[in-house]
Amino acid sequence: LLSPDGALAPTIFAEITAAAVRHDAVNLGQGFPDEDGPIEVLDAATEAIRSGVNQYPPGRGMPVLRDAIADHQHRFYGIDLDPEREILVTAGATEALTAALLALLDGPEDEVVVFEPYYDSYAAAIALAGARLVPVPLRWPALEPDLDDLRAAVSDRTRIILVNDPHNPTGTMFTADVRQEIVLLAERHDALIVTDEVYEHLVMGAAHTPISTLPGAAGRTLTISSGGKTFRTTGWKVGWVSGPADLVDAVLAVKQYLTYVNGAPFQPAIAVGLGLPDTYFDDLAATQRERRDLLGAGLTAAGFDVSIPAGSYFTVADVRPMMAPGEDASDICRALPERVGVAAIPLTAFVTAEHRAQYSSLVRFAACKRTDVIAEAARRLAASA
Ligand code: PMP
Ligand code: GLN
Repeated sequence: LLSPDGALAPTIFAEITAAAVRHDAVNLGQGFPDEDGPIEVLDAATEAIRSGVNQYPPGRGMPVLRDAIADHQHRFYGIDLDPEREILVTAGATEALTAALLALLDGPEDEVVVFEPYYDSYAAAIALAGARLVPVPLRWPALEPDLDDLRAAVSDRTRIILVNDPHNPTGTMFTADVRQEIVLLAERHDALIVTDEVYEHLVMGAAHTPISTLPGAAGRTLTISSGGKTFRTTGWKVGWVSGPADLVDAVLAVKQYLTYVNGAPFQPAIAVGLGLPDTYFDDLAATQRERRDLLGAGLTAAGFDVSIPAGSYFTVADVRPMMAPGEDASDICRALPERVGVAAIPLTAFVTAEHRAQYSSLVRFAACKRTDVIAEAARRLAASA
């Protein structure tokens, strides 16, 4: 069942996390926090389980969560949504993305424009839909898209422009110019926009702007996010998609046969999270900023060139100083847990096969761990430099 281009090969996250566990390495590979989220959210899930919220929830998600998602979108972005028709709860952002791509793509004639490097499930889901992935490069060291590259990638064959902002694995946040151009191109070529905003609250500078708030965008945009990163509950897999009712209905048509429904007791708990005061979201961003700075300083001290991210958990470094002749970043990442006691992910895991060479010395380090853990990783990397 492996697709010819390897899009359905085993995910890099499973491989690197297994190596980290085997060698007791500090895991800056797979992006998951090493601390629990807010106690109010955890208590709400426990309370829901104890009070019998343990059977199939409604297909679109529990009303309390859909209302909380609508309130969150209004409070942070001024977006008005009808919780009955314009919001669907999914098994994480992953299911929202996969169901959206399966629902909206018709086969080999359809193209999906994706910013490369890209989160690995995108290529897999596009392959499952039988469509074609058209990459727009984020080149080292700026890791920003070039508007001409973007214009060249979008055509009348483009069915979807898939936008991950803040971006995994680069930490890039798109500029207003790029967002504007995406909407103009989608209008010109009658394409849809699907956004992945799971890092919306992990921003180190300016606040996040959803593309659907731009003039002309709302009618053709599906906005996806999840509670995993925002509430440090990546194992709960509660995500959501919002947008025009007909597009959300199309995603629901697929979702019902993927998982039917998901995570009943976690849904009211994530609703509690979405309603937490501003101080929670401000502290989350401030903490991430501290961790980013600590990791960046550690990677620099280890002798690497580093790209300072504006958002997400991730920092990309050029590990060339550590590479022996003939090695690339993927060799380094496979050896790193044993050799140095640190795990990280090579950017080659996030690119199409023909572009691997351009990313062959770049590695993604995740700063979603406690500061003492990040400091220990930095110490180990510096010692091996
Ligand atoms: N999109 C991006 C960009 C991610 O980094 C992740 C990481 N987990 C996901 C989607 C998946 O989110 P979820 O766990 O909610 O499915
Ligand atoms: N989103 C996380 C990352 O990019 C986890 C991904 C996963 O385990 N599938 O590291």
